[in-house]
Amino acid sequence: MSKVAHYLQEHLLGEVMTSTDAIDYFSTDNSIFSIRPLMVIYPRNENDIRKTARFTWQLAERGKMIPITARGSGTDQTGAAIGNGIILVFSAHMNRILEFDSKSGVSNVEPGINFGKLQQTLHTHGRFLPSMPSSGEYSTIGGAVANNASGSDLIKYGELKKYVTGLRVVLANGEVIETGRMNKKELNRKLGLTSFEGEIYRQVDTLLEEETKVLGQSQVDVLKNNAGFNLIDIKRKDGSFDLTPLFVGSQGTLGIISEVILNTEFYNPETTLLMATCDNIDQLQIIVTELNKLSDLPSAIEIIDGNLLREAYAINGSVFKGLLEAPFPTFCLFIELDLPRDRLLKKVTKKVTKILEKYATTVKVEYESSQQDKIWKLRDISSYLLSHNQGVNRAIPIIGDGAVPYLKLGEFLIGLYKIFEKTQLVPSLWGHVGAGIIHLQPRLDINQVGDRQKIFKLMEEYYALILSLGGTISSESNDGRLRTPYLSSMYNSELMTVFEKMKMIFDPYNILNPGVKFGTSIDDLKSILRQSYSIDRLFEHLPRN
Ligand SMILES: Cc1cc2nc3c(=O)[nH]c(=O)nc-3n(C[C@H](O)[C@H](O)[C@H](O)COP(=O)(O)OP(=O)(O)OC[C@H]3O[C@@H](n4cnc5c(N)ncnc54)[C@H](O)[C@@H]3O)c2cc1C
Repeated sequence: MSKVAHYLQEHLLGEVMTSTDAIDYFSTDNSIFSIRPLMVIYPRNENDIRKTARFTWQLAERGKMIPITARGSGTDQTGAAIGNGIILVFSAHMNRILEFDSKSGVSNVEPGINFGKLQQTLHTHGRFLPSMPSSGEYSTIGGAVANNASGSDLIKYGELKKYVTGLRVVLANGEVIETGRMNKKELNRKLGLTSFEGEIYRQVDTLLEEETKVLGQSQVDVLKNNAGFNLIDIKRKDGSFDLTPLFVGSQGTLGIISEVILNTEFYNPETTLLMATCDNIDQLQIIVTELNKLSDLPSAIEIIDGNLLREAYAINGSVFKGLLEAPFPTFCLFIELDLPRDRLLKKVTKKVTKILEKYATTVKVEYESSQQDKIWKLRDISSYLLSHNQGVNRAIPIIGDGAVPYLKLGEFLIGLYKIFEKTQLVPSLWGHVGAGIIHLQPRLDINQVGDRQKIFKLMEEYYALILSLGGTISSESNDGRLRTPYLSSMYNSELMTVFEKMKMIFDPYNILNPGVKFGTSIDDLKSILRQSYSIDRLFEHLPRN
């Protein structure tokens, strides 16, 4: 154990690990990249985080850099949960529900709590937290907040930032702050503080005032945009101010979250599910457009394409039983209505069915929950693609997180299929089509030089397509390292400078997750590419003696 690790172990309650086993494990997340950390720390409480941050800050003041990367379960697909310094792992100890008010539905939780477990608890109180990522059974709330995650219910309930009302955050120098929306008077009090917190409020306020015109350029006409920082929601027209939306989605680059305050929604266990098939892109575009015009929006409009159906059927045909059989349609749609079983549901179901009967090839309405589970299993067949190895080829996460305005969906799909035709790869698609989000993970062998080159060619063409349609390169997940080199093709240099200034305000020594959102080039990405990729290690790594 190094001197630094030894010193920290003596001063922290949580474990400090430098074993080869731990370093190996934490050198990867669910991205295609690998970086070996110096050590792994499992903080027991906020004080452990504070002491770690204070220690690295003091080292940085003396010119010695040890970066800190916060980590939940490491399911991140953009290389944002790895780093060459300290990895602070929250899932081991800081994983409790601290408070839950069953009347208001507000909950205070530690960042390392598993999303799925929190959801189960909320269900027992008749509540739920929207925006659960499909990796939610394996990942943490802290990771979801830092990524501003979303789920299939995005179209009705919005993204996670809507539900995070406050945070406790450990700043780069070890100070702890509490965030939440405040009025002008409260802001003035913060502006007068002599601490680092006060300095941050003063500088952020000034930056936002000076750059008001530039801020608007970060707005993209999509349901969800995670590229860069969220600068728009900090200061409202009424003069209120809140740093929470800035921290949400900042991927541990501005501060380390030690507690999250969440709003929740009423849980409706009796949803209605419609499944439809269609045979061409034009039909799909009309259906999605018409559904988006409804005043009572579906909670999910999901899609899988014929390529995915064929590939998944070859791996495991059992989930198709009684639902679909070959020859498979070009697209299969899943539309969920999250409404109480009353007249409104009848009315909306009738409207949705009418749209589908006009433009889709087949339509099925399902009210019964066990039958719905079977249909959702079919929607989830993308997991077969991700976990099934085809020889040495793996489905790798490189280009599947863009979103376009839903009216441009047809053009997006045509463009995607063309890109893949040129590279002679088969695109198997799925995603939140109602929100213009399409996921895909091409099968490649990242150990082969030719395939490694294809990764960068595909990314270049994919981002060019998305930007030509007015979309965003990061929607569901986030920028991480993977998309950092491409951020400047989405935003102009003025806006990129504002992002950089914001980072400097919070993290002047660049201690917090460096290389994420800033400072990673395409050559840097090439140098950290893993030799092989697999999703097999999607489980928690807890401290061992
Ligand atoms: C199969 C699969 C499906 C996925 N589906 C979705 C999806 O549907 N929607 C979606 O949004 N994402 C999805 N993801 C991406 C990812 O799983 C989610 O964003 C998830 O919420 C990340 O949680 P985690 O605990 O694994 O975080 P990690 O991967 O550990 O970390 C993610 C980011 O959060 C930061 N972070 C973690 N904890 C803290 C903290 N306490 N303070 C500050 N920063 C912190 C990390 O530094 C990192 O930048 C998917 C990934 C996989 C592999």
